[in-house]
Amino acid sequence: MKTIKVNIVTPDGPVNESEADMVIASTETGEIGILPDHIAMVAPLQIGALRLIKDNKSLNIAVHGGFIEVRPDVITVLAQHAELASDIDLARAERAAKRAEQELQEKTDKQDMLLAELDLKRAVNRINVHKMN
Ligand code: ATP
Repeated sequence: MKTIKVNIVTPDGPVNESEADMVIASTETGEIGILPDHIAMVAPLQIGALRLIKDNKSLNIAVHGGFIEVRPDVITVLAQHAELASDIDLARAERAAKRAEQELQEKTDKQDMLLAELDLKRAVNRINVHKMN
């Protein structure tokens, strides 16, 4: 069966490089499934899960924004932060979620609230992706 190469890169360096039968990504316009030989495209990503399916197993990665570039034989994900589910520190993410929830209740400044909302989204994404494993 044909596979597609997937590279996940952040400013801190490469996070994962592997082959997949299919990739499921959360783009700003919704979830998409990408098979080998997909037409070339670039799409902005949401804070969400990236799933690399290979031999009916899923490698799950928390991706925090960025872009996905699809070419027929290779997918590149460029994100500010990305963590494999197995590398996610659940207790840390739970602490971050609680802190962000508290800030959302206490802050009144719009900008501060937007930042706390983003912190909460990242933390919830990490918790969800960790639990997918
Ligand atoms: P925290 O408040 O716990 O530091 P944060 O939302 O401020 O979380 P980010 O700014 O999104 O963290 O990420 C900073 C760095 O820490 C990145 O390299 C990211 O991959 C890593 N990171 C953040 N939270 C976790 C986690 N729960 N498990 C593993 N790595 C994490």
